[in-house]
Amino acid sequence: MAMGMMQDHPLIVSSILEFAERWFPSVEIVSRTVEGDMHRYTYKDAARRARQLANALETLGVSAGDRVGTLAWNGYRHLECYYAIAGSGAVLHTVNPRLFPEQISYIINHGEDRVLFVDTTFLPVVASIRHELTTVERIVVMCDRNNMPDTELEDVICYEDLLDSESSEFEWPQLDEYTASALCYTSGTTGNPKGVLYSHRSMVLHAYAEVSPNSIGMCASDSVLIVVPQFHVFAWGTTFAALMAGSKVVYPGPHMDGASIAKLLNDEACTLSLAVPTIWMMLMSALKASGEKLPHLNRVVIGGSACPEAMIRSFEDLYDVQVLHAWGMTETGPLGSMCHLEPKHASLDAEGKMAIRCKQGKPVYGIDLRIVDDAGQPLPHDGVAFGQLQVRGHWVTSGYYRVDADASVSSDGWFDTGDVATIDADGYMQITDRTKDVIKSGGEWISSIDLENIAVGHADIAEAAVIAVPHPKWDERPLVVAVRKPGATIEREALLTHIAASVARWQVPDDVVFVDELPHGATGKLNKLALRAQFGDYTLPTA
Ligand code: AMP
Repeated sequence: MAMGMMQDHPLIVSSILEFAERWFPSVEIVSRTVEGDMHRYTYKDAARRARQLANALETLGVSAGDRVGTLAWNGYRHLECYYAIAGSGAVLHTVNPRLFPEQISYIINHGEDRVLFVDTTFLPVVASIRHELTTVERIVVMCDRNNMPDTELEDVICYEDLLDSESSEFEWPQLDEYTASALCYTSGTTGNPKGVLYSHRSMVLHAYAEVSPNSIGMCASDSVLIVVPQFHVFAWGTTFAALMAGSKVVYPGPHMDGASIAKLLNDEACTLSLAVPTIWMMLMSALKASGEKLPHLNRVVIGGSACPEAMIRSFEDLYDVQVLHAWGMTETGPLGSMCHLEPKHASLDAEGKMAIRCKQGKPVYGIDLRIVDDAGQPLPHDGVAFGQLQVRGHWVTSGYYRVDADASVSSDGWFDTGDVATIDADGYMQITDRTKDVIKSGGEWISSIDLENIAVGHADIAEAAVIAVPHPKWDERPLVVAVRKPGATIEREALLTHIAASVARWQVPDDVVFVDELPHGATGKLNKLALRAQFGDYTLPTA
């Protein structure tokens, strides 16, 4: 068979930076810094400084394949680290600084990071675990000389000092595209965190997918506020996709409260933004309080946990902003699926359209999905049958980093997500639960996510979690743990009546507990493990 005669260029992340510098040199990267002021520069500046940093890594003795960790907020220096570390052939290891200190040291030791890049905010955490970090040789503090904090740490270097002495000439190595580029640990709720080792090829293909209109559709006319943290799957991969698209980049640093986000969206004329529902909830209450509008914003990507219907409505009805509901995970790059309506849906009424919009949507090209039963048999695409969601594709993990007896990928190549989902006849996937969060009542499954979405649809409810509580007759029954909106006085009966209007009678939760706050994990998701521990002995009125 004849081979094609096209050129062969490796899909490596440095090629994205080179493209961005050559074709969009003056596009801005705007960052709110840890110190609170605004920093602005261009793709051209970022590329020059990334080359200086690549030289600095060599000076520090970092070699190909070495892991280099970051504990940092979203900002321009973090972006420079991304490209310099991965681009030079080392492995970028973004560590989630919101994890417990023991998990942070576990992750850094497991990854065997040799150098750490740390924002001043996280220096105290690093100092507290420094004695446990067996492989770390140097710590680079991501600030200039004036902002260098006092620290008892001995092996620290100031980022700007490090760059100052380096040349801006650097030839990016033409790596094999299958070379490891980055490492991320999942914030799994059980057992030790597990590492996903990405390749240059997987990251470049993932960025291509995000630029395509069937997913995020980033382009050169966008100004993108990237709220989702760079320590969470590379800000959902946007650190690469944005530069590939030539989009203006806006970073909030640590300032992620509703008022700060609203100000950035409007000051920087952002057309697109990405975040988890918790952030959007804070934005909504800030906007409600100030009466501000969002004149530039035209779409938001919401993922990380299910986007409640009420949020889609608020964005669209109050601010004329389109919501793109996305699903994914650390193990899938993270982009797995995205929800877009099709021409045939134009004739549906508002309710019919909303039923689809609340789904997590279809895979983008490069990803394939299926649902299987407990015996691993594929289930029908009828929108009713639900089972374990499995995924495979160009940017899906083939197994965890340095884990023995890893059973996460089936013998026929499908990665088991731990999510439970339906897929309808048109191919729209909907997550109904995490495998371990499903409520099993008398042999029937009740979706905790459905009940949570309905509960937060009530005007008086700010946030709600539904968990399984042991029941003598039904094995498990649902309990709602809810947070009232400020000033609201809603009681148990009214919330249960509201839920009962939307679900079958046997799915109506058995009780409601109001709390001031719900526990969240390191990536902003509800921490149901903590809730289950807290309410494990709870006696339901029906028991
Ligand atoms: P992480 O690896 O921390 O990004 O977590 C991935 C998990 O978050 C998935 O396996 C899902 O359980 C959950 N998740 C992500 N996006 C969504 C979504 N749109 N709806 C429901 N769950 C989601």
